[in-house]
Amino acid sequence: MPLLKDDMPLMKEPHPSPQAPLPWVLPSLFAAFNVVLLVIFSGLFFAFPCRWLAQNGQWAFPIIAGLLFILTFFSLISLNFSDPGILHQGSNEQGPLMVHVVWVNHRAFRLQWCQKCCFHRPPRTYHCPWCNICVEDFDHHCKWVNNCIGHRNFRFFMLLVLSLCLYSGAMLVTCLIFLVRTTHLSFSMDKAIAYPLGCGDPRPNSEGGEELSTEGRGHGGGRVNGEQG
Ligand SMILES: [Zn+2]
Ligand SMILES: [Zn+2]
Repeated sequence: MPLLKDDMPLMKEPHPSPQAPLPWVLPSLFAAFNVVLLVIFSGLFFAFPCRWLAQNGQWAFPIIAGLLFILTFFSLISLNFSDPGILHQGSNEQGPLMVHVVWVNHRAFRLQWCQKCCFHRPPRTYHCPWCNICVEDFDHHCKWVNNCIGHRNFRFFMLLVLSLCLYSGAMLVTCLIFLVRTTHLSFSMDKAIAYPLGCGDPRPNSEGGEELSTEGRGHGGGRVNGEQG
């Protein structure tokens, strides 16, 4: 065992640990709210623009967006309930007065004692003040999912970031295509709902799209007029 020096560097913490655990109710509700928000926006997205495009033969965009939504949703749920690399190594045999040393790149580091978990933290292990746990290879605490990002779930986090970016891009492109395809139609919530629900018997117009007459729908006869340019 090498001799220890007083100026031996300590493993630094990203932020000081609070004295009392932070409340967990609001962060948990915020994480659940994000999941609900994703489901609501995706439901509107698939119910209106995606359904209209699918009914007009453009299946590629709804299928791609649907696959990306499934990937995003399950990576989000997985990250919510994943184990970031929690270390439970507290024991009565250890104590804050004992000194543990590790060597990194030929330099000796004295491990810090975690008062909450009652053990000497390995390198790159930090105590999350929000979760009140020590996490191996701690990266950060993600408030969007109310979970730490660490050694075991960092891949889930990267998968969520990647799938969310791709899904957002797919939603943007799909909505733009939907708006371009429906520029010849006057905007109204009536038509936005009538098209996805497929009221009446839509007939293709000269541009390949479909036009549903609100007058015919209003009289209950389901009469459809083609777009005359
Ligand atoms: Zn700890
Ligand atoms: Zn945390």
